[in-house]
Amino acid sequence: MQLQHLPYTPLRITSGFGPRKTNIAGASTYHLGVDLGTDKSKPYTATDGGPVTAVLPGTVISNYYNVIRGWVLLIDHGTIDGQNIKTLYQHLRQSGRPVGTKVLAGEVIANMGNTGVGAQLHLHFELRVNNTCVDPEPYLKNIKEVKNMGNITLDQAKKIVKEKVGVDDNTIQYLLFYKYGETLIKKIAVAVQ
Ligand SMILES: [Zn+2]
Repeated sequence: MQLQHLPYTPLRITSGFGPRKTNIAGASTYHLGVDLGTDKSKPYTATDGGPVTAVLPGTVISNYYNVIRGWVLLIDHGTIDGQNIKTLYQHLRQSGRPVGTKVLAGEVIANMGNTGVGAQLHLHFELRVNNTCVDPEPYLKNIKEVKNMGNITLDQAKKIVKEKVGVDDNTIQYLLFYKYGETLIKKIAVAVQ
């Protein structure tokens, strides 16, 4: 099973999967996911860390708020290699894509936030295989784009996509801000380079 896209770019794991000590009331001592830190190169605010993206194609099956998790999205990716795969995205800034929405890998589903119990802005990400949480870290590090994207900048990626794919600025803006996010632009650029 391979994930096709990062839930947040760049990949910066601030807390791993498994047992941990915490002094945050209400935070779990057995961590069922990984925490991803915000992109420090961007001028994000304390409550908005920018786009969170789906790791595989799937359908939003749950979208809710509670005081511990904050805003949460759960996506069902169906059966892959004989196992049901779901992913969960937590502490989102706001209510994300509605239940029933079909999403593509890399599609923006919400923004990183700090809702619920959390010391600071971050994304809590869970990978569930047959409804059991497993450590997502090896899967995140095995994504092709993480290995291949290298140091390509967004501007370089836009230029390559414009010239080689032949799309205009409006289409680029649409892909960037409305539907997919910059990781997909970079992915296309790497593919057509
Ligand atoms: Zn967490």
